Amino acid sequence: MAKYIFVTGGVTSSLGKGIISASLAKLLQARGLKVTIQKFDPYINVDPGTLNPYEHGECYVTEDGAETDLDLGHYERFLNIFTSQANNVTTGRIYQTVINKEREGAYLGKTVQVVPHITDEIKRRMLLLGKEGHDIVITELGGTVGDIESLPFIEAVRQLQWELPDEDCLVVHLTLIPYLKAAKELKTKPTQHSVKLLSQEGVNPDIIVCRTERPLSPEIRRKIALFCNVKPDSVIESADASTIYEVPLNMMREKLDQICLKKLAITNYHEPELTRWKEFLDKLKYPKSKVNIGLIGKYIELQDAYKSILEAFVHAGAMNECSVNVVNIHSEFITRENVDEKLGNLDGLLVAPGFGMRGIEGKILAVKYARENGLPFLGICLGMQMAVIEFARNVLGLKDAHSTEMDPDTNNAVIDLMDDQKKVTAKGGTMRLGAYPCELREATLARSIYGTAVISERHRHRWEFNNAYLSDFEEKGLIASGFNPESGLVEIIELPTHPYFIGVQYHPELKSTVENPHPLFVSFINAAKDFAEEKNARKKPSLQGEIV
Ligand code: GLN
Repeated sequence: MAKYIFVTGGVTSSLGKGIISASLAKLLQARGLKVTIQKFDPYINVDPGTLNPYEHGECYVTEDGAETDLDLGHYERFLNIFTSQANNVTTGRIYQTVINKEREGAYLGKTVQVVPHITDEIKRRMLLLGKEGHDIVITELGGTVGDIESLPFIEAVRQLQWELPDEDCLVVHLTLIPYLKAAKELKTKPTQHSVKLLSQEGVNPDIIVCRTERPLSPEIRRKIALFCNVKPDSVIESADASTIYEVPLNMMREKLDQICLKKLAITNYHEPELTRWKEFLDKLKYPKSKVNIGLIGKYIELQDAYKSILEAFVHAGAMNECSVNVVNIHSEFITRENVDEKLGNLDGLLVAPGFGMRGIEGKILAVKYARENGLPFLGICLGMQMAVIEFARNVLGLKDAHSTEMDPDTNNAVIDLMDDQKKVTAKGGTMRLGAYPCELREATLARSIYGTAVISERHRHRWEFNNAYLSDFEEKGLIASGFNPESGLVEIIELPTHPYFIGVQYHPELKSTVENPHPLFVSFINAAKDFAEEKNARKKPSLQGEIV
């Protein structure tokens, strides 16, 4: 039987519930327990797939093709496990299930209500992963205690706390302890209020995790414990960390895992095995070199929009013992006149995924610069499609080459809507989504990077390379090196005459974890390191030159 940990948040949003949940899960996993995490989001969208990244950050995609909250990315990166559709549930999905059942007549004439029908469906989903052989299921509740839309979720937790044996369920509440500069004091009142609010809704937290900029003194801990009705050792300090990957170790120091194990009466665990995690952190903290990587996108102001890409850089940087300085470059503002200046100091260029017309021409200019200057280039999804368009326009001489996403009437649709997408009209969950196999051509960069003939990667797109142009591209030197074995769709393109130029139709960033950094990112950073070294060597006057 699985045990359940619920993580709620109070005082403000953005306290890092996802990171705390993932860190606790990591520690429990490192002690030999089988752990999974799920996220319950109170918004009405059925899933975040239709949400603009400005609203909710990146849309993360799981193996089974679910479009999910970006916190699932953290769960996978920390735990090195695959999550699935079942790990992310929204109010919209709960209501959709209940309303569909009502239409089917499943409620036998009953009045369908928030309590018990919606809360029952929430509880059913909360317990679902517990039936799959996990020792512990951690459920992160999105939103902040006190939000109207979180109420049914809190009520479901209250009922489960009441229904499950005491040692099978616990609640961790994450709050903020602000520091008031003028008073030179940490303040506990917002936390007290937030716990009171939660208690009014019937849920008494077992553990309070306090986000704080300054250490909590024993007096402060005692005060929080007293007013929040928990034991002093259940007040956990979560100080700001230099990297999210330090948080599990900070939580271990605070004994968060041990307190959970004790409260859940779990005894079959060992000391945490975190050797690889610590090795990774060491490499991350003490890099031996540095590269500047340009990230060309259109949501640059918002770091959450490219979360998985940024984290994949962190993993690949550590693997290369190299600090990756990501230079955010807004594609809308790249022009023919400023491209050299904007990209001149880079050691590598990543053109990001995306949708729609905005910023497209800037991305194409950036690809051209990378192709002509031997700058390591990685194009992801839309980034790969832009590389194809750039080559078509500037090497094949097809001046109007485009994707029909941006120009439906182009005479040279080198990127075209996939056949099975042509009849699709509904928006949510209808792209080509999730993991697909890809066969790698021998003697290509892709094959050497992966070191294997068949790979599996995750997708999220509607458009694709138009195979009618394949031979024209290959004649001029841009080759296809990865294909879907069933459909023949081109999944990877590369330029063998360039030191490192590769575009992929899938999203490698979604599969990079601390323990398995993605080979494409690792090789890209390695190529950037080489580029930086050569650049520096060229800059330094030769010894002979100096003597002369
Ligand atoms: N808009 C493009 C498509 O749908 C690329 C999608 C993406 O970058 N994820 O094919």
